[in-house]
This record gives sequence, C-alpha cells and structure tokens, in this order.
Amino acid sequence: MSKADKTQKMEKPQVDKSVETDIANRFWKAVIKRIEEDSGDRSGIHVTDLVYDCLRRAYYDKKLGELVSAVSDSEGLMVLWIGQMLHEMPFGEGCEHEKPIEITFEGSVKVEGRVDELCQLSNGSHIVIDKKTTRNIPNAPYDHHVKQVLFYSAILTKVYGYKVSSAGVFYLDVANLKTKLYIIPVTPLMIEAALKEMERKARLLKQALDTGIPPTPEPGWLCSYCPYFKKCVMDGWGQGLAPIIKGSENQGGGGESG
Ligand code: SF4
Repeated sequence: MSKADKTQKMEKPQVDKSVETDIANRFWKAVIKRIEEDSGDRSGIHVTDLVYDCLRRAYYDKKLGELVSAVSDSEGLMVLWIGQMLHEMPFGEGCEHEKPIEITFEGSVKVEGRVDELCQLSNGSHIVIDKKTTRNIPNAPYDHHVKQVLFYSAILTKVYGYKVSSAGVFYLDVANLKTKLYIIPVTPLMIEAALKEMERKARLLKQALDTGIPPTPEPGWLCSYCPYFKKCVMDGWGQGLAPIIKGSENQGGGGESG
C-alpha cells in the first residue's frame, strides 16, 4: 500500500458541526412553535389564572404574555412539550377528553377551563383528572394543582349538573419514567368554597384588566419562578412590605407543566 493510500485510509470524514447545530435549532424552533400554539387564546380569564394566591402574575400574563418565552432551558421546554403530548392522548372509553367548560358569575365575569379527562365511575359519579408532567413526583399533590381540579369540579357541578365525587392529579415523571395519581374526595362544602374563591379572584382579576391597574402583589414562593419579577418590582413589589420568599417544598416551582 502506498503512503498516499495509507493516509487516505486513516482520514475519517469530518462531521460538519454547523449541520448538527442547524438541525438542533430546527427541532427546538418546532418545539417552541408547538408549545405556543397549544397555549391558545389566553385573553379571557381561565381557571389556571386563579389557582395561585398571586393574581398579579396572571394579569401580566394577559397583558405581556411571556410565560412560554420565559422557559429558556432545554429541559424545561422538553417537559412542556412532553406534557403537551400527554394531554393530547385521551384516556379512552368512559372518559371525556379535553372538555371545555365555563362559568359566568353575575356581572358577566366569565371563567373558562378545559378538563383533561372527566371519567365516569362504576357508581355513576365522575372523577375530574388533570395531567401534569414533572421531573420529580411530589409526596403530595401541589396546592395549586388541587385547587385547579376543585375549581373544575365546582364548574362541572354548578353549571353542567355532573355529580363529581372525586378529583385527581395525575403526575407523569419524565425523568424517572413513573406515574402517580393522587385522588381528592370532593364534598359539597368543598364545591361551595371553590365557587366562592373562584368568583372572588375572577372579579379582582377582571377589575384589574379593565382598569389596567395590576392586582396587589402577593410575595411568596411563586416569585422565585415568576417571569415578571422585574416588572413586578418596577410596579411596586416590595414597597412597604418585607418580602419573604418562602420555601417551595409543596409547590413544585418550575419543574412541572400541564
Ligand atoms: S413577582 Fe411575585 S408578587 Fe410579583 S407577579 Fe410574580 S409572583 Fe406575583
């Protein structure tokens, strides 16, 4: 074998790094586009706007709409994307999938929602299920997730006449490939309390949106994950307050979606 032949044999074809970057960029662009499309029209008041103590965040979301773009790390985007895939898959027979619901309180204060799964049980009652993707299944369902399924239960009972006996939060751990369903028994008292809280918050948020005056900030654990923190500070967050960023042990923070 000549020297030229040997050299030719030893030379490995070079990978064009720009191709790798180009394809990766296309993938992430498609993921972001898909997530944004799934966000849909967020102009009205949604159940998910009312599940936190802080209404100011929901106000900024409607006025500025930065929640998707605020997720900048690839893992966070991946969790959102997988969560979207999970939502698209119906549980099947006996369950209504992605059921749109709404309630209108006096004074045309409307709250909308979309129930992931509404499943009939053998005793004729129903269970409301919301699916959540996460990177770590909590030891108990997060407070705002429980609130979300209770608000759905309240609307389904009050407006649509369903007998909702329980609500469930279904976690899919995409890091450890595990699932967990937490079930919360639903009582008439819980339905009444959920309706009152939903109405109170919806009125406050609507008033803020109508007047353009942000709701009072509610400093807490959520601030650590809030994409509007800077804006909130500029709008007076912390004035006259001693903001305490509480721990997020039972809240989940940024590592979840759904
Ligand atoms: S920074 Fe905190 S108080 Fe301000 S909008 Fe966000 S969560 Fe609410």
